[in-house]
This record gives sequence, structure tokens and C-alpha cells, in this order.
Amino acid sequence: MIYYSYFYQNHNFNIELNIIFMDNSLKSIIDKQKNYFSSKKTIDVESRIKSLKNLLKEIKLNEKEIEHALYSDLGKSKGESYLTEINFVYTEINIALKNIKKWTKRKPIKSTLINFPSSDYIIPEPYGITLHISPWNYPFQLSIAPLIGAIAAGNTVVLKPSEYSIHTSKLLEKIISNVFDPGHVVVINGGIDVSSKLLEFKWDYIFFTGSIGVGKIIAAAAAKNLTPTTLELGGKNPCVVDETASIEVSAKRIVWGKFTNCGQTCIAPDFILVNKKIKRRLIDELKKQIVNIYGDNVVNNKEYGRIISDKHMNYLVSLLEKENIIHGGKFNFNDKFFEPTLVETNDLDSKIMENEIFGPLLPIIEYDNFEEVHNIINKYSHPLALYIFTKKTEFGRKFLESYPFGGGAINDTVMHIANDRLPFGGVGQSGMGKYHGESTFKTFSHFKPYIIKPLWIDPPLRYPPFENKINFLKKILKLF
Ligand code: NAD
Repeated sequence: MIYYSYFYQNHNFNIELNIIFMDNSLKSIIDKQKNYFSSKKTIDVESRIKSLKNLLKEIKLNEKEIEHALYSDLGKSKGESYLTEINFVYTEINIALKNIKKWTKRKPIKSTLINFPSSDYIIPEPYGITLHISPWNYPFQLSIAPLIGAIAAGNTVVLKPSEYSIHTSKLLEKIISNVFDPGHVVVINGGIDVSSKLLEFKWDYIFFTGSIGVGKIIAAAAAKNLTPTTLELGGKNPCVVDETASIEVSAKRIVWGKFTNCGQTCIAPDFILVNKKIKRRLIDELKKQIVNIYGDNVVNNKEYGRIISDKHMNYLVSLLEKENIIHGGKFNFNDKFFEPTLVETNDLDSKIMENEIFGPLLPIIEYDNFEEVHNIINKYSHPLALYIFTKKTEFGRKFLESYPFGGGAINDTVMHIANDRLPFGGVGQSGMGKYHGESTFKTFSHFKPYIIKPLWIDPPLRYPPFENKINFLKKILKLF
């Protein structure tokens, strides 16, 4: 066994993470998972149910510790942690428990004439051993939610959480090891080196959540073994506010969607495109709503989160260098505080408009006509989310239906994530694949079709010679 020791600095604590899984150790873990999967222990649906129930129980036992870890990593308040992380996971487990018997059933499928007589079926089967790599911004739910579907579908899981959210990553290791045999599910903590090593192995499925740049590295590694992959990535999410929008409600919902988790949300609005006729009114209302929700002195508000690391603080500071700050702008490296900040700009070439912001900075860009909106949306094409605030619902619907993007809303931000029946995921630059609710189960299942033919009859239609059959065949096939 080779022992590696890494030191990560976060929230002024030096925390030593002992990583005992590298090289041969990683190989032995993966071999264990292969053996576990081959032993068919994951196939029995009752045992999947038991695993999910045990996981739910262990999470409930550790609820306080989870809240504490999320507070230590991201300054998340109890309320926010419960709403956006813990309860999210409870819902996903309960949905899986309620539906797993239905999801795993072999389904009879209507047969075709050419096959007559036959009985046709589809059965979902697990891929096998799966690798999950997760990010730091919702470090609990983004690690556990995919895992629920993977277990429900009968796979094994190696989970590599983020090296930035160290408290939550450590706790995930404890929770998972209390519930699962490492051959079934295991957490391997570490940084890019561990992640890169893991990617050298052959997996049956890779589920990655993170940045576009790393997503490309994952896709390239997966391609070497033709491993199917889900990539849950990010991007710049436009939020359009047209001249008919309800200013107060729009501002409130934008402020909440943008500044929850300090703007470190993949589907947060990245920037606002506002009709110039209402721009001043919207800006005034955004300022008012920031104060309404977070108070005059945000730094003292216990419900407002923190930036994950100094590196991310530096990036955000650099984005503001040449910008016209119209609200906020204060920050503090000591406790990684960054104030909700509004920026007025029309320069699409500025640094703040180059890449995903992923922090509490909100650029506001005015438009005169929808051609400008169209050009800007196309510049940041295939975002993970797209939002429009308007009273013209039909117009809003046409707008959303005319652009490719992961998911979105008319007159709200972020909340499309709150329906497990809506598949969640990106398209193009913002990713591939989808999950949540049944979609997660489907993601981790191969839907295997097969047919059963009786031996008592063997219609001659499909066998050559066709010469005397072809006209009859054409007629018959046209009927169905
Ligand atoms: P990241 O891509 O830097 O890291 C994600 C994970 O990949 C971490 O576990 C990290 O250790 C690993 N990793 C980093 N570099 C790697 C490399 N070179 N090779 C192999 N593994 C590597 O992302 P992040 O900073 O943790 O998260 C922020 C990003 O994630 C944002 O872009 C955000 O939009 C995106 N995100 C997307 C979703 C979604 O559901 N679509 C959800 C949350 C975050």
C-alpha cells in the first residue's frame, strides 16, 4: 500500500488529507468493485432498496455534521444547506425507493409484423463499475444525487469529491464507508492527480460534474475506452428582462437565484440583458431586493455564504478591475466574503463577459431591440440555463423554444431544478446527458432489448428467394 499525504489550505485551517489509494491501491479498489459487480450482488432489487434505505438512515444520523461541513466549506446557513443540499438528497432517495420496482421491471414491447410471432421486451441493466467526479459548490448533493441513481440501477460507484470542499469531502468518505462495502461504493478523496490516475482505468460509466475545460479532459480519457459519459458542465447563463416584465418580482427572483450560495451555482443567471426602457427601474429594484434579502450590512448576515477559496476570490477580484460597479463590490480575504455586486457594462469583450463568473457579480447589459438579444445569446450559445422575465407568456415560450440550452424558466431563475420529473443537464458546451429522479436511473442503465421467438412456426417471408414475395411483402408492411 502506498501512502500519499496532501495538505490543503482552506478557511485558515491546515488539514491533512491522507490519501491511501494510489497506483496499486487504486487498482485493488477497482478490482474489488469489478469482483463485487461480477458476483451479481448489485442485481437483486431488494438489496438495492436496502442499500438506499441504509444510506438515507446514515445521512439522517449525520444531518448536523453535514450542515457543519457545508458551513465550514462555503459558509452555508442551515436553512440553505437543508433546502439546496440535504432535502434535495432526501427527495431523490425517496423517489428512487418509491419507484425502483417499477423502474427495474422488464417491460413488454409491442412486436412487429415482420417478427410475427414474437414477444419483445426491454430490460434495464446496470453498466457495471462507475466513476463519479464531483465539484465543490454543492458538494453534498452533487456527490450523492448521481450515486443514488447509480445504486438504484445496480452499479458500483467510486466517488471522487472535490479537493476544495474538504470538510464535506471528508464527511462523505465517513458516511459512505459506514454504509457500503468498498467493493460496492467507495469515496476516494484527493486532487487533480488522484482524479487523473482514476481516469487511467477502464470504467463502464463516468459521471462528471464540473467545468467545461475539465469536462473535455474527462471526455478525452473516456474516449480511449469508449466509456459512456455524462458531463454536467457550466457556462454563461443569460437572463433577459423585457419591457413588460414585473420589475419587483423579477428583481427578487434574480437576486435570489444569483446570490444564493454566493453566486456559485451552475444555473445561476450569469448576466442580465435588460430592455433599456426599464433598465434604471430594474437596477433600483435589484439594489432594493439585495438589501431586503441580505440587509444593509451583508458581511454580518449569517444567511449569506462565502467564496470557496483564495484562488476563486482572486479570480472574482480580477473580473472587477475595469468595471463600473453600481452596487456592492466590497470583499474580504480573511473570511472569503464577497458582497453581492452589480456591474453596468455594454462591453462584451470585457473580462467579466468572457467566461462563467461563478460568484456574486452580476453584469447588467442594456438592449434596444431583440436582434441585439439574439446576437448576445448566440455569442454564449448552448448555456446550461436561459431565463426570460416577461408578461408576454407566449412570446417567452417562443423565445425559450428557439435557443438550445440545458434548462430554463419564464419569470424565474434556478427553480426548474426543483422538479425531479424535469431532466437536468446541459447540451453542447454545457454538457451531455441528464439526471434527477427517474432520469438518473436511466442514465446508469443500459436498456437492453430482446425478442423471444417460438419454434413451432417459421414464416418464410424473410428468407430468399424474394422474387415471388416482394410485392406481397410491400403490401403487408405498408398496412402496419
Ligand atoms: P472543476 O472542473 O475544476 O473540478 C471538478 C472536479 O474535477 C473536481 O473533483 C476536481 O478534482 C476534478 N478535476 C479538476 N481538474 C481535473 C483534471 N485536470 N483532471 C481530472 N480531474 C480534474 O470544477 P469546480 O471548480 O469544482 O466546479 C465549478 C464548475 O462546475 C463550474 O464550471 C460550474 O458551472 C460547474 N458545475 C456544473 C454543474 C452542473 O450540474 N452542470 C453543477 C455544479 C457545478
